[in-house]
Amino acid sequence: MKTKAKKSTLAISGGPRAITKDDENIFRWPIVTKADENAVLSVLRRGAMSGSDVTKRFEREFADWMGMEFGLAYNNGTESLRAAMWVCGLGAGDELICPSMTYWASCTAALGLGATVNFADILPNTLCIDPKDIEHRIGPRTKAIVVVHYSGYPCDMAPIMKLARKHKIKVIEDVSHAHGSIYKGKKVGTFGDISCMSMMAGKSFAIGEAGMMVTNDRDLYERCMAYGHYERTGLPSQYNPVERCIFNPALNKFAGLPLGGYKHRMNQTCSAMGRVQLKSYDRRINEIQSAMNRFWDLLDGVPGLRAHRPPAKSNSTMGGWYNARGLYRAKELGGLSCEKFCEAVRAEGVQVCNPGANGPLHLHPVFHDADLFNMGKPTMISFGQRDVRQGPGTLPASESINDICYGIPWFKLDRPSIIKSYAQAYRKVAEHADQLMD
Ligand SMILES: *Cc1c(COP(=O)(O)O)cnc(C)c1O
Repeated sequence: MKTKAKKSTLAISGGPRAITKDDENIFRWPIVTKADENAVLSVLRRGAMSGSDVTKRFEREFADWMGMEFGLAYNNGTESLRAAMWVCGLGAGDELICPSMTYWASCTAALGLGATVNFADILPNTLCIDPKDIEHRIGPRTKAIVVVHYSGYPCDMAPIMKLARKHKIKVIEDVSHAHGSIYKGKKVGTFGDISCMSMMAGKSFAIGEAGMMVTNDRDLYERCMAYGHYERTGLPSQYNPVERCIFNPALNKFAGLPLGGYKHRMNQTCSAMGRVQLKSYDRRINEIQSAMNRFWDLLDGVPGLRAHRPPAKSNSTMGGWYNARGLYRAKELGGLSCEKFCEAVRAEGVQVCNPGANGPLHLHPVFHDADLFNMGKPTMISFGQRDVRQGPGTLPASESINDICYGIPWFKLDRPSIIKSYAQAYRKVAEHADQLMD
């Protein structure tokens, strides 16, 4: 005889699902209004996609919002990072330090500069670079450290900046996950020498394919323009007013052509949308923060689960909570694998609950074997640099990423009853983990 499934029976074992109703608006992003549409249409109708009048306004407004002196818009975040590496002096045979667990664009352009990447580990609680795993990697050819505020979590910038100043190397902040995140009262992207970010459609500031660089260093800014914004570097003339030129005499010698042959400017349909999005961004991420904090407050004390967010009194925030993750403690759930946990949560109705985040880059063949310059040897060791390639077992936290975190819903609206049902899905699986053990 068939018995009625109990409420506590997991959906994966035939019980009722925790998620019974849904609201697709709660996940929709970016939020596009008539104002965005009108701004983009006006660029299209003027045929102004390739100019820079709108983009320059957006750069000014974005840099002001960040509290920075200079902003320079890019066709994507990857290219802003390439430019940052180059202006920080990274060249053939040099070294860049970067966390292994990040999206490839945080560091891969280094190879294209003939440089090598020395990967550092992450901290399992923050998913950001471990400040204690940096200093011993610094060598005579190290030019810069890339930090990634992973999933919006601010890196611990104080010790990192101290180290970088001591060794006279640059810090590049990759803010692609963290537009608007606060570290101890101040926006991330304002601590390093130069900050870069993606603004592609999936990010929390979403307007493109697009990217942005911000800095307070005039020389770095001008070198970025010389690298990929050729139309702003020309010698002054009646067609090219002084304020459009770069001022570094050494670079102006090459005015009019981009160094290295890069073309980096942003499509103005994107900058037009960026100007509109920026006006509502603080309000919208405040709502995201209430929603996401509500979710985690509901799961406080549940065994095996921990919020990926800074401590309450740290005066730090997760910004727009891009790519939101939860932390996993298998030990507290009798050793249940993160994979099995996620499978059961998905059965409760949470599609985004998958184990892990980005894969560890230090194990990828590109950082071992790729020969980008046809030199007959891997680019990582082609230019006389030390061999810093690392095999399995060297960066344990990055390599365990699929065991220590999982996806959680990225709520854009603070709707308590829906958020409660999603939290219930995670709680139910964690509290009945014994049903999943064989
Ligand atoms: C998305 C992303 C980038 C690359 O930006 P694009 O705009 O996609 O080129 C760089 N770094 C991180 C951490 C990212 O998530």
